[in-house]
Amino acid sequence: MKSQEWKLALFLVVIAVAGVFASSSFIDIFGNGGGDKPIYQVSTIGALLEGVYDGETEIGTLLENGDTGIGTLNALDGELIILDGRAWQVRGDGSVHAVDPSMRTPYATVTSFNSDLSLDLTSPLDLPALEDTIKDTLSSENLPCAVVIEGTFINLTTRSVDRQELPYSPLVEVTVDQHPFTFDRTEGTAVGFYFPSYLDGVGVPGFHLHFLADDRNGGGHLLGCTAERVKVWIHSTPELDLNLPSSGPFLGINLSGERGGDIEAVEGGR
Ligand code: ZN
Repeated sequence: MKSQEWKLALFLVVIAVAGVFASSSFIDIFGNGGGDKPIYQVSTIGALLEGVYDGETEIGTLLENGDTGIGTLNALDGELIILDGRAWQVRGDGSVHAVDPSMRTPYATVTSFNSDLSLDLTSPLDLPALEDTIKDTLSSENLPCAVVIEGTFINLTTRSVDRQELPYSPLVEVTVDQHPFTFDRTEGTAVGFYFPSYLDGVGVPGFHLHFLADDRNGGGHLLGCTAERVKVWIHSTPELDLNLPSSGPFLGINLSGERGGDIEAVEGGR
């Protein structure tokens, strides 16, 4: 009886090891090298639109789940950029601050960036053209991906928002008072994500990018730019690790969404 148990245990170990090798080679078939790292997200853009500006997730937790990403901080206190494993906040006044890992976020998206595709773009491109160029290189528009765009920009516009006080107003009202910042000839990195349109409401459909200047003197949510000479890295993944709030106002808000019109327009091909 004992020896049969041993044989069974050995058999299971062999199966497990074979499984690991099989899954490794499976990943390599798709040329992903070290394998896909999932996109890790806290809450949804729909909840942020509805004014859910406080969350329980610490920036430290985000950094355990990714080294690259975007989001905001509790009380909608500016724009969050995570680059090379460090978190930065662009406040409503445009100033840039290192973020303490104990600070919390109501909405953020990160990944352990592992580029499977890169592009060198050397002719000036405005933001829509830049996004179209990136989209054209994707193997599928139906998978989300993280994007890093690093280089020189002829001009660039960002925005940030002021820290909010309770009771919170919906995001559409807050952004009426957003602060735009313009940069002429700046070097830096735009970081963000492409989400397929079917994820509208979970994330921003299409591209959602934040910018951080190399000198750490400016940045924010990217509104527009003319890229002069940039390198683009793309990290596609079929895995989205969505971490929804399990308490607080998220549970009571209406997320059925008036954004349905956008989806309808896309699906209707108009
Ligand atoms: Zn943003």
